[in-house]
Amino acid sequence: MNHAFPCGTLPLDFVGTLRARRNEEPTEKLATPELLDDWFVESKMLDLAPGASEVDLAIAIDLRESIYDLVAARLDGKPLPTDAVAELNLQASGKPVTLRLGPDGTTRTGTVSQGLAALAREAVEILGGDDGALLRECSRPECTQVYLDRSRGHRREWCAMKTCGNRVKAAAYRARQHATQD
Ligand SMILES: [Zn+2]
Repeated sequence: MNHAFPCGTLPLDFVGTLRARRNEEPTEKLATPELLDDWFVESKMLDLAPGASEVDLAIAIDLRESIYDLVAARLDGKPLPTDAVAELNLQASGKPVTLRLGPDGTTRTGTVSQGLAALAREAVEILGGDDGALLRECSRPECTQVYLDRSRGHRREWCAMKTCGNRVKAAAYRARQHATQD
């Protein structure tokens, strides 16, 4: 697997393909069209690689950054940036992924723009619906992953316990050990 899906929400996992956004050099997980193909297959949005081009990749990154700008505005309680709203709505108006029923079950195929349209529509539902109030950013400062907090009492602190939660807890433990030794 080249990609991670910690959020349980594909548009936010997609936003997370630019990791450590506040670092001087964030980690770009969609550096090539092939990595975008892998994302669609690994996320199970599409059964087959859509054969992304450089242009597709640029359009995908436009969508990703528009979703991030909108989520960041929601988190800061600021008005939604109009250019990001326009980009999201434009991509959401694309053709849906092709679902077919066959002898072996369902197949999902489509082009990059069909996959992006599905992501954009899901993002519209998150940002425009009740889920918008559940948006959070991971508490590990370098991480910058955004997610929906569906936990009881809304106390989820990390994008994923397995990665960020454990790393922060291990660091806190080491700090305490250090303090008692001094
Ligand atoms: Zn995290």
